[in-house]
Amino acid sequence: MIHVVGAGLAGLAAAHALATEGRIVTLHEATPSAGGRARALADGTDNGTHALIGCNTAALGFLDSIGARQFWLEPEPDGLPVLDLADGSARTVALSPFGWWRSDRRPAGVSLGGVMAMAAMALPSEDRTIAKAMAGYPEFLRGFVDPLTIAALNTPSVEASTQRLGQILRRLGAPGATRLLVARRGLGPDLVEPALAAIGLAGGAYRPGHRLRGITQYAGRATALVFHDHETPLAAGDSVILALPPWETQRLLPDIPAPDAFAPIVNLHFAHASPGPVRFLGLLGALCQWVLVRPGGVAVTVSAGDAEADQEVEALAPRAWAEILQAVRKFGVAGDWPEAPPPCRVVKERRATPRHRPGPIPTPPRMPLANLALAGDWTWPDLPATIEAAIRSGQAAARALPG
Ligand SMILES: Cc1cc2nc3c(=O)[nH]c(=O)nc-3n(C[C@H](O)[C@H](O)[C@H](O)COP(=O)(O)OP(=O)(O)OC[C@H]3O[C@@H](n4cnc5c(N)ncnc54)[C@H](O)[C@@H]3O)c2cc1C
Repeated sequence: MIHVVGAGLAGLAAAHALATEGRIVTLHEATPSAGGRARALADGTDNGTHALIGCNTAALGFLDSIGARQFWLEPEPDGLPVLDLADGSARTVALSPFGWWRSDRRPAGVSLGGVMAMAAMALPSEDRTIAKAMAGYPEFLRGFVDPLTIAALNTPSVEASTQRLGQILRRLGAPGATRLLVARRGLGPDLVEPALAAIGLAGGAYRPGHRLRGITQYAGRATALVFHDHETPLAAGDSVILALPPWETQRLLPDIPAPDAFAPIVNLHFAHASPGPVRFLGLLGALCQWVLVRPGGVAVTVSAGDAEADQEVEALAPRAWAEILQAVRKFGVAGDWPEAPPPCRVVKERRATPRHRPGPIPTPPRMPLANLALAGDWTWPDLPATIEAAIRSGQAAARALPG
């Protein structure tokens, strides 16, 4: 029997890999619902917009394997529409530098020197902040590198590591690597529910409301899992995967190295129906960094939102809605767009990801105990904490367990 603890994407990927191999798996989740930091709230709203890119091959492969790939669509196949509120200029930007041979797909401030300075971050070199590395190219930093950094690392470029961004940049060269995909309806129907269904179909069991309180150990092995209302002894052939956030893993296993500084993501969800198609718009010089327009609502992302995490919906919503109106009018987004903000819900994920700063990455062992493996986005040192890292870590933990 294998116990996977934590039904975020790492735990879902681990449980799915094991169940489809015919192993006997139980997936335990503390909260009433699965998905973790990529989940649907009780009313069906996503906690926050989640995007994948074409080079997220493990995540896309996982979607394929759970029968959910067709639910993810590319809202802006011709390039990202970006509105700069500083001067009202609008452009369509290719995410890949290879797309910049077309002058109408270039980001603001791009120059040969700027592109070379950005490309240098993909090479092994001194780890420093992105703002320092790009100091000679302030317009390109503002128009492209900083938004990319905030989206990919959830850390502002004055603080973010060149080597961590380099991990992403190195993957962007392959054909199709920069295609941007979002869930057509939401994370519940397009990711979490299909994953749980696939685990169930393969024979895995799912136990929501099972919070792991402690792990009993003896001679380098886990011997029992202590849940809030019962204890599960582990037999000789039993194994465990802990697919938990860093702070929770450290509570259970205090010697494990783990990140200790985190950055928030603030999402605003406006109850505004629009006829479609799904659109994904970028803003510069604005509170809203990305605006996702789906038939069911309009979602705004504010990554690295340290200041915004302390503000209330009354302050955030009117500001965001005024910016949304400018963007949807500029890019001709279909539908009626009233002047007054529709009802808005703010979701603040205060520990959305680690802060990806320069310096050594705390890397935990995959198997800290003989029958216990670790998973979770923060355990995959080759990538920043993302869906891709979570899925890869879950699948690696499944492979690492004794057969
Ligand atoms: C708002 C937001 C937007 C994001 N946008 C993107 C994006 O666009 N693209 C991208 O790639 N990534 C994005 N991310 C990051 C992505 O969501 C995470 O990297 C990923 O979901 C982490 O998955 P995980 O399984 O490693 O961890 P988690 O999702 O944290 O899963 C851990 C699970 O363990 C459960 N748990 C905790 N303690 C216990 C316990 N004691 N017992 C049992 N269960 C427990 C938790 O409830 C949770 O379900 C975003 C994150 C946020 C918050």
